[in-house]
Amino acid sequence: MPISRPIEPLAATDEELRKALEDAFLPALLPALAQATGDFSILRESLRPPGVAPGVQQGGMTPTQQAEAREVAFEALKKLRDGEISPNSLPIEEALLRITAWMTGSPASEDYIPLLLEELAPEGQDPRAPSWQKDPALPFKVVIIGAGMSGILAGIRLKQAGIPFTILEKNHDVGGTWLENTYPGARVDVSNAFYSYSFAQKIDWPTHYSTQPVLLDYFRECAREFGVREHVEFNTEVTLLEWDDDRAEWNVHVRRADGSEEVLRANAVISAVGQLNRPKIPDIRGLERFRGPQFHSARWDHSVDLAGKRVAVIGTGASAAQFIPEVAKVAGEVVIFQRTPNWYVPVPHYHDEVPAGLQWLFAHVPHYAHWYRFWLFWNTTDGLLAAAKVDPNWTDKSRSVGPENENLRLLLTAYLQMQFADRPDLLPKVMPDYPPAAKRLILDNGIWAQTLKRPNVKLVTEKIREVTESGVVTEDGTEYASDVLIYGTGFQASKFLTPMRVLGRGGKDLHREWDGDARAYMGITVPGFPNFFMLYGPNTNIVVNGSIIYFSECEVQYVMGCLKMLFDRGERALDVRKDVHDAYNEKIDRANLERVWGVATVNSWYRNEKGRSAQNWPFNLIEYWQQTREPNPADYEFIRERALAGGD
Ligand code: NAP
Repeated sequence: MPISRPIEPLAATDEELRKALEDAFLPALLPALAQATGDFSILRESLRPPGVAPGVQQGGMTPTQQAEAREVAFEALKKLRDGEISPNSLPIEEALLRITAWMTGSPASEDYIPLLLEELAPEGQDPRAPSWQKDPALPFKVVIIGAGMSGILAGIRLKQAGIPFTILEKNHDVGGTWLENTYPGARVDVSNAFYSYSFAQKIDWPTHYSTQPVLLDYFRECAREFGVREHVEFNTEVTLLEWDDDRAEWNVHVRRADGSEEVLRANAVISAVGQLNRPKIPDIRGLERFRGPQFHSARWDHSVDLAGKRVAVIGTGASAAQFIPEVAKVAGEVVIFQRTPNWYVPVPHYHDEVPAGLQWLFAHVPHYAHWYRFWLFWNTTDGLLAAAKVDPNWTDKSRSVGPENENLRLLLTAYLQMQFADRPDLLPKVMPDYPPAAKRLILDNGIWAQTLKRPNVKLVTEKIREVTESGVVTEDGTEYASDVLIYGTGFQASKFLTPMRVLGRGGKDLHREWDGDARAYMGITVPGFPNFFMLYGPNTNIVVNGSIIYFSECEVQYVMGCLKMLFDRGERALDVRKDVHDAYNEKIDRANLERVWGVATVNSWYRNEKGRSAQNWPFNLIEYWQQTREPNPADYEFIRERALAGGD
């Protein structure tokens, strides 16, 4: 079955239409119907959705608006069914302007039309696909490291441009993070309509926020359907990359699972190794003494039967918040060691299936699923960015950093107070004392409070002193006897690309250059490392807006632009100028210090050992698209093979 299924003929009785409409997401259905019927008058001013906010359904439409919108949609669906559609449907660009004007009150800037078309990808189009081909006579080969979400994407684009490539993958299968994180309860926390490739939109996601097996299937399917899988060498880990100054190409040292080693050659290397793939085991005394099984969330040991066991969990981040509720259902006892509480964002439908009526409408109304994705995209371009902004005049920044951040804090505080109203003993333990969005916000449908209130669950906030043969001991001397120890302690996110070594021009060592403080231009290129491109590199993570797939698509577009620039100019390699790279990073650093995650002192993987935010993109989604759309040749020094250039 292809990923993007064709729309089925809309044959249904009036009753069936009304029934499906009960489940409709109206703010996206009206635009889809306006476009499908050509009748834009249905986008009435009185029906404009007020906007998105945590916990708000149907874009904030009032019950009266929703009732009217359903009637309007019903009439439009009948027209569509009966073939009474206007022959004068608007060109898609015009439709976009009308629809964004309806959604927000003012039309999108015309400059954004190409971006909006790329995200909407109407009628199965792929506006981001390269419109050019490498000259087949020109020898040029790319190595991609990693066959996760961004590695597969890079492979798809290289293939479309006719550029030979190999993907080297340390695992036995594609999928990256969605292959490795098999812990119970693992699911994405960005709606799947948006957390998917723009050119491979699925209209039949079973749940709004898919579980790990569904996502793994999606990425496997994409790798297969786009012909990338056959380019992957599995069980092959890259240990060292060495730039050959004379030949102007990379030596790629690999080690295979059978122990054999080999050096491959590549004109360019694209690293798609992710930021969150090397588990962080905490530095706690005595861990090695523990006699029972112990494992990290990203290396879940499914051979360990947790039924009836006493399970100790260290950590309460995004991963633990997903697996603890599942573990608590089977374990005899769960003791959770929490160092820092999270802020939880209410999302009542977080675990829900996409209701039957909505599924049916996606399958039968042309472009409805696309407009649904578009709605999510448009409303998360800024997301909660305003609520993450630091107000320099805000005097006490310990609990909030500005008026909008304070509003968010009040909203999320009220949510926790409501969730734990019947448990005054738990409330102070779960209430954060730092500003929201300084750490990852966790989506919640009430499951966290339900779990903590279970009789077999205990939340410990006392600091851990050590681990013994039989359990965990806290600073106050209490020993919590345990059969199994699970680490939900996150990843070595700041150690970009490790344990791989990367040696650039003149043997320059990338990690020595970075000295624990990774930086890159656009998150992609680093001076002294020609034709080396990173996906999900430094400062390309997002905290409160968007989907990381959107970022990867922008990054790959930029990399493809760089390769095209080389081919067009007849050059061999490009190396970003240091002054350009430095100025860019200064701008990023300044902006991150104006965001809550840049100034808050709470623990988080968003800052490295130097205290700098090396992970996060501080601006909105559109700005990253604008900057990565096309590389500027003036930002780069071009390199020729010494033999060709006659030496230098
Ligand atoms: P994380 O957010 O870094 O959380 C690690 C947890 O372990 C924190 O609670 C941390 O406490 C605790 N911890 C670390 N070292 C400790 C120590 N020595 N003693 C006690 N506690 C310790 O890691 P994660 O939960 O794996 O999530 C990482 C990121 O992955 C997320 O932010 C998100 O971007 C992504 N993710 C996404 C999803 C999703 O899409 N659904 C799911 C999982 C993960 P402190 O807070 O005090 O540091």
